[in-house]
Amino acid sequence: MGLFRWVPLLLLLHQLCLQISSSSSGSVWMSSYPLERAKEPEFFEWMVGIRRRIHENPELGYEEFETAKLVMRELEDLGIRYEYPVAVTGVVGYVGTGKPPFVALRADMDALAMQESVEWEYKSKVPGKMHACGHDTHVAMLLGAAKILKERQEELPGTVVLLFQPAEEGGGGAKKVIEAGVLEKVEAIFGFHIASEIPIGVVASRPGAIMAGSGFFEAVISGKGGHAAIPQHTIDPILSASNVIVSLQHLVSREADPLDSQVVTVAKFQGGGAFNVIPDSVTIGGTFRAFSKESLLQLKQRIEEACDQGTSSRAEVQRHGDFLEKDRPLFPVTVNNKDLHEHFLNVAGDIVGLRNIRDQQPLMGAEDFAFFTEVLPAYYYFVGMKNETRGPMPPAHSPYFKVNEEALSYGAAMHASMAARYLIEARPSGSAAARGGHDEL
Ligand SMILES: [Zn+2]
Ligand SMILES: [Zn+2]
Repeated sequence: MGLFRWVPLLLLLHQLCLQISSSSSGSVWMSSYPLERAKEPEFFEWMVGIRRRIHENPELGYEEFETAKLVMRELEDLGIRYEYPVAVTGVVGYVGTGKPPFVALRADMDALAMQESVEWEYKSKVPGKMHACGHDTHVAMLLGAAKILKERQEELPGTVVLLFQPAEEGGGGAKKVIEAGVLEKVEAIFGFHIASEIPIGVVASRPGAIMAGSGFFEAVISGKGGHAAIPQHTIDPILSASNVIVSLQHLVSREADPLDSQVVTVAKFQGGGAFNVIPDSVTIGGTFRAFSKESLLQLKQRIEEACDQGTSSRAEVQRHGDFLEKDRPLFPVTVNNKDLHEHFLNVAGDIVGLRNIRDQQPLMGAEDFAFFTEVLPAYYYFVGMKNETRGPMPPAHSPYFKVNEEALSYGAAMHASMAARYLIEARPSGSAAARGGHDEL
């Protein structure tokens, strides 16, 4: 009997507790709230609009002037302070207290030099340029995250640095961003890529190495051209180049540890233009990939040696190796910080649910996010967008590449939550402790 008298009081207390917990900063971020917000029709349509505008006007690395202007306009609308230009065309926004601790979110902005073959309303308007890697979605998702974070700015115990980075596709924009010094006070950085082969609503990653380190090479093999019917009076660069290519095949198949994945591919072979003329020179070029810094540097050295020593029967042939590092810097291995993997699992568990988190096998593709993983604790993951009911989704860098825009909400929510929860719960005590946590290379 007496118990019944207590029921209203208990209910009142319960309600009070709920109110207190929902107003504390942690609870909103430790829920699926960011995803629910990003899925609201008006919010979602706003991101779709941004993505389509960028898709129609693709810009190559270090030329993202209009994309940067669009980003700045949106940041102004959101009342977010920013810096521009950073690393030529980059934009860096700041949400939160404006004071330490700082955590960064990264989106790349550049398109590819290729013609779009998808016929749709928002097809690229620029001949020969296309957002075929989905960086248009990355920009829209980071702006989405900016909006979610700004709306709950007072719940952030620190500052989120929004990094809109130029030139990911081979230009090493991340390297320039680091050189610009905007990440000096940042304790951790997060980034992701949309993935055509991962289902919508699923995210995937792994601790440690996730994307290969990569480099490019080019060698000009000079001989002495002449009549194809009188080879004894020539020095045939085509034969010498072929010998070099055969010796390059030995580097992975005979010299590398079979358990240490590596690739050397000759993708370029240019020389000659007639059936009966031996050309003066041949240019060969390609790429090499590995999952550790040692293996990558070893490959680089051995490719140089193979280009210099892979002789034909005529030793006069001259080669010169050029690793194109000025325009295409060596990309390090993308190595995910192991402590941040725990953080990713916690965040993704709340946003997409534990059963929608997948282990990602390491990929031979390279990512210039790798430069960040070399200088501060960093974490990179994939956000799925495959929806089989909508037909096949061609992979990135295909002229038929298509995006499932539903992924925008997932990306925005993951970004926002990764940053907010890092500030709230995941920082190691003493930020300096986190630095240098990736010496497994
Ligand atoms: Zn790409
Ligand atoms: Zn990409």
